[in-house]
Amino acid sequence: MTPEDSCIFCRIVQRKAPASIIYEDEKAMVFLDIRPLNQEHALVIPKEHYETIFDIPEDVNAHLHRIVKKTAVALRAAAAADGITIIQQNGRAAGQEVFHLHVHVVPRYEGQKLPHFRDIPNVSREQLEQAAEKIRQHFKI
Ligand code: 5GP
Ligand code: ZN
Repeated sequence: MTPEDSCIFCRIVQRKAPASIIYEDEKAMVFLDIRPLNQEHALVIPKEHYETIFDIPEDVNAHLHRIVKKTAVALRAAAAADGITIIQQNGRAAGQEVFHLHVHVVPRYEGQKLPHFRDIPNVSREQLEQAAEKIRQHFKI
């Protein structure tokens, strides 16, 4: 079995698994996290399967981070966030659970403490779609 068959993020890229997609181009995709730290918590991924920062080619990583910035700008506007946290975990020891490189972009609010990733329940597709639609309106390429 290739990573493309077994990896949940590859399956989202191939439209074999559902996701609330905000943006995509040839090399990158942005969609909402199914267990969000805040409602508009987005994941930015390369479409190609690279496990970690140690595997991704420089040019793809540069493009990915261009899209990370655009995502941060869109989220700040759509979620009226006071701040934006950007997290990227590499390896089990760093807390990585999905081994297809991804950058978390999370809206933050004054005084709000975040729960641990593993304590968050899945949210409904309807809620994700509502948040995604709001963000799409603010996403400028
Ligand atoms: P990591 O701990 O690897 O940095 O984060 C993996 C993230 O992927 C978690 O925040 C988790 O909620 C999210 N995730 C896992 N499976 C799915 C899925 O099927 N769809 C979406 N949209 N997010 C997922
Ligand atoms: Zn993958």
